[in-house]
Amino acid sequence: MNKKNLAAEVVKILKAKYPNAKAELNWDKEFPYQLVVAVMLSAQATDKGVNKVTAGLFKKYKTPQDFANSNYKDLIEYTKSINYYKTKTERILKNAGQLLEMFNGQIPKEIKDLIKLAGVGRKSANVILQEIYGIGEGVVVDTHMTRVTHRLKLQPYSNQKDAEKIEVELGKIVDKKSYTDFSRSIVLHGRYTCKAQKPMCPECELNKICPSAFNL
Ligand code: SF4
Repeated sequence: MNKKNLAAEVVKILKAKYPNAKAELNWDKEFPYQLVVAVMLSAQATDKGVNKVTAGLFKKYKTPQDFANSNYKDLIEYTKSINYYKTKTERILKNAGQLLEMFNGQIPKEIKDLIKLAGVGRKSANVILQEIYGIGEGVVVDTHMTRVTHRLKLQPYSNQKDAEKIEVELGKIVDKKSYTDFSRSIVLHGRYTCKAQKPMCPECELNKICPSAFNL
């Protein structure tokens, strides 16, 4: 099977497995800036850990104005259980100010604009577009995407440092209309089945088409 066909098959199988796949970060749809903050907090942290922090944080802070009008001392009372909380908190404050100044408080709809904001790289920008606007501009490359697609031999890189190259490789073989389904379901598949230490090949729905099945 060539890579394009393999990718299409993976999308089909995982879409059936995760019909309602979405990011597991909690936020209020009425206040989309909360998702931007949650994504910033999620770097090198689990969604569960972020959700614990945001449960309290988002009761008080909802809009970019709320965050921009806050200060470091108040915010770290909420964020201090997350790793790198000092840097992340500084970036949230900067990000909220920039969003108001540069984009009038409107979350941009293009990656090129989103990545102008503090603390937002391509991965975060892709998640933000996908979750807030339903726009699949690129595949979201996190540690799960890197590992699972490398095991599926859809792309040659195994290190997340190569995230941009991986996004380009996957962008060539995954149907653009499926970027969002592919991103969401691969992340869940990596988290719960194709785990880093012990992939669960015997019960994996992809084991008939995966070149690494039972071989790790
Ligand atoms: S068959 Fe094994 S290695 Fe392949 S995707 Fe499934 S869990 Fe991962």
